[in-house]
Amino acid sequence: MKQEGIFKEDSSGYPKLDEWVTIWRETLPKYFGYPFNEVSPLRDFYQWYYAAGINLMNLNNAGDPFTDTPWEVSSQVFEREVIEFFAPLYDFDDDNRWGLITHSGSDGNNHGIYFGANYLKHKTGLSPILYVSDEAHYSNMRLAHLQNLETRLVKSDTMGRMIPEELEKALDTSRPALVVYACGSTFKGAIDDMPALNAVLSRHPELPAVYRHVDAALFGGYLPFTEHRLLVSSKKMGFESIAVSGHKFFGIDSPCGLFICTREVYDNQSDFDVPYLNKNMRMINCSRDPIQPLKFWWVVQKVGTEEWRRQARRIMELTAYLKQQLDQAGYPAWVNEYSNTVFMRCPSPELAHKYQLAQNEDPRFGGKLAHVVVMQHFTEQAIDAFVAELTASFQRETEADR
Ligand SMILES: *Cc1c(COP(=O)(O)O)cnc(C)c1O
Repeated sequence: MKQEGIFKEDSSGYPKLDEWVTIWRETLPKYFGYPFNEVSPLRDFYQWYYAAGINLMNLNNAGDPFTDTPWEVSSQVFEREVIEFFAPLYDFDDDNRWGLITHSGSDGNNHGIYFGANYLKHKTGLSPILYVSDEAHYSNMRLAHLQNLETRLVKSDTMGRMIPEELEKALDTSRPALVVYACGSTFKGAIDDMPALNAVLSRHPELPAVYRHVDAALFGGYLPFTEHRLLVSSKKMGFESIAVSGHKFFGIDSPCGLFICTREVYDNQSDFDVPYLNKNMRMINCSRDPIQPLKFWWVVQKVGTEEWRRQARRIMELTAYLKQQLDQAGYPAWVNEYSNTVFMRCPSPELAHKYQLAQNEDPRFGGKLAHVVVMQHFTEQAIDAFVAELTASFQRETEADR
């Protein structure tokens, strides 16, 4: 897709760069394996960005968007409005929420785990144990390790959901519980059954305290715009914080995300007074990108709720379509409820590469698997072409096996 640019020709003057651009122009329409929306909502953003000369300013969002004076040398005033727009979509009340625009979904998980651990220590004086399913995104395990938290990996069922009985078995009720729920496990797209898992936690009133963080990097983008929006409701699902990526469903062209928590969590963090910023800094990073909040704010205005509802519906329809086409072709494939991630028998390495399919292995599904994440750039035609190639190659393989 060509953009009106400042260069008369597409050429940068550097052959290596031009070649790189050509490769990605051809590849992105077949980018099936990773959850990135390749239909940019930011076309006119960059026109404004250059026209206004924002590219010549060096702004920085260091600090707290909810306590800083607006219009400092930052875009925090817009960052705050973005959080105020999204918080109600996850059922946080206006008088009981705090948040920021993060560097990524992982950065949101980092804040969730860090805020959770601080909150629990602050409430109980005890160090928590972190519980997370073995199918959750690896960033959660990595971050628990980084934060030196004792971690228990809880077994999940074949479709990838944390097993409530396994959580109960793993629980150490003498220590606070910091539970990370997967709302969209990475490979199978499973949503942990939060009500059932919460029921396990509430069967143990002897637990000194509980904190639940939801990793909704991908699903947290579209679910609020579907009839299943209660799956990401902090009140219905009973969680304290949530992380969502900005570059997945929302199509922002470089990594960023949302982190939102309750005010109670924010108010129960350890103090780090930073005199030179004249602030009590809760967030982990000092400098934060000032452009991502502007892009997020732009897409809230330019895309907005109605269009996101349409896109979410379309993604769900196309996911069902893909699954149905694979079923019809007799190609082994599976999909979780509410998920846009279809996992299937892994095709030939050539096809996996052509469509940039993420791969995994699970003997319960016959060995090697690949998955497709249905996003805004998908069409029925692209799915038909994909399924045709997949089944043709599958037939060749099964004939060769005979
Ligand atoms: C993508 C993803 C992440 C990582 O988010 P980044 O924005 O890439 O850091 C974490 N958890 C889940 C469930 C994801 O889908």
